[in-house]
Amino acid sequence: MIARLLAAALLASAAASPPAALHLDPFYTQYRNAAGIPVVSSARTQPEALDTAAAIVTDMLSHRPDLAREMVRQGYRVAVMAPEETTLDLPEQADWKKPAPDDARLTRCERKHYDERIGRYTDRQYWDARARGMGGLLTSAATENLLAGANDRYHGQNIFVHEFSHDIFRASYTADLPLYTRIHAAYAAAMKAGRWQGEYASTTAEEYWAVGTQFWFNSAPVARFDGRTVLSDADLSAYDPPLAAVLRQVYGDRHHLAADRFWQHPDRVPPGPLPRFTAEVC
Ligand SMILES: [Zn+2]
Repeated sequence: MIARLLAAALLASAAASPPAALHLDPFYTQYRNAAGIPVVSSARTQPEALDTAAAIVTDMLSHRPDLAREMVRQGYRVAVMAPEETTLDLPEQADWKKPAPDDARLTRCERKHYDERIGRYTDRQYWDARARGMGGLLTSAATENLLAGANDRYHGQNIFVHEFSHDIFRASYTADLPLYTRIHAAYAAAMKAGRWQGEYASTTAEEYWAVGTQFWFNSAPVARFDGRTVLSDADLSAYDPPLAAVLRQVYGDRHHLAADRFWQHPDRVPPGPLPRFTAEVC
């Protein structure tokens, strides 16, 4: 723990502008180095949010330096949006288009209600409403979520932990193919057994992994399946042992990211009596 706090303090003192070698748009003026992965933002972002994102990146990769190296090799980086910035304000994403009706990433409910939820919006309207944080070679994070601040649409869960886990999964394809294959096998087994029914985790193997990561680090909103509760890492291990086994391979036996403000947060559970099912009804 002391080593982690020291690392966080060192990161906090390492404020700098992005190295010229990154060839970034002048939009980016702040920079941190997280296990070799650049964490950047415009001048508007609170420095504390960059420090938090950098500490989470470093911590999530600490068990797997091989995956960290692969992500550095591929050129992954993280952009931290200020509260007043949106997904399409990031210069690399300014021309993003909304997904087509047959996009495999759409959830069951988005597909069913495509025109109403997606079709009628412009690209910018769609993306600004859809997400404040996306995984990918450029992964974005939102200041208000990292700092558990006001006007956080994801209050109660750390979306950056979710998004960054997508990147780790993708890196495993080239750095550790057997691991990548085991994650897909765990997903297939879970779907066959009827686990995560209707939940976001059931959308794709990618979302299964990312939601699993959130539970592993005790930073996911509660899930209920016909009265059964999954909230803690222990609940996850009992509910879906193959998923827990692959998560352990990547993160070790650690269940707490020190910089995660939503770790074991009471707002992971909504007030009032729990529903029998938490899956979206549409
Ligand atoms: Zn996701």
